[in-house]
Amino acid sequence: MDPIEKLTAGYRGFRAGRFNEQRQTYEELVDHGQRPKVALIACSDSRVDPATVLQADPGDLFMVRNVANLVPPYEREGHYHGTSAALEFAVQHLEVDHVVVLGHAHCGGIKSLFEERERGGDGNFFVPPWMSLVKSAYLRVQGTMPDADEEVKARVCEQSAVLVSLENLMTFPCIRERVGAGRLRLHGWYIDIRACTLHVYDPERQSFEVVT
Ligand SMILES: [Zn+2]
Repeated sequence: MDPIEKLTAGYRGFRAGRFNEQRQTYEELVDHGQRPKVALIACSDSRVDPATVLQADPGDLFMVRNVANLVPPYEREGHYHGTSAALEFAVQHLEVDHVVVLGHAHCGGIKSLFEERERGGDGNFFVPPWMSLVKSAYLRVQGTMPDADEEVKARVCEQSAVLVSLENLMTFPCIRERVGAGRLRLHGWYIDIRACTLHVYDPERQSFEVVT
């Protein structure tokens, strides 16, 4: 089936099915406004749709998706801070209780850090500087496990990048303040969609623990 036709058919199915069943929920969310408790930063990757994987209902998740689920550090320079704008809106206006950074295995963005050919050149203007946000995670992996298999390095780098994003979240004054006051909690998650395992970062153990 043509991919666009598949999607419009999907819409018709949604309208006749899930929307019809949850019509009241949708009406309430429009009439009274959204009140999501969780903001989630996920990758644009087509395989790891958080609403599907986490079985979220409408109104549950305020979501930001970008290449490699990265959070940039707080900065006031520049003009187009899409992820930062979404975080500001989620935290200051929606007053979410949680911010989750959801990393994933086999991330193309992280993989590009390992591929020389991806580091710049014609037609590749935006990904390299964007991915440089987690260059520290890449360098740490290369420094601590230089002889490891590339796939293993990529998995470790994907998880380390989640931690870099958690650190960057804390550079936002509105987030730092709320976390300090106990009004906001930050979470680092990581999913492997092949095995369907979800890993949650435990700050005390300093490791990602599998959710059973
Ligand atoms: Zn990805």
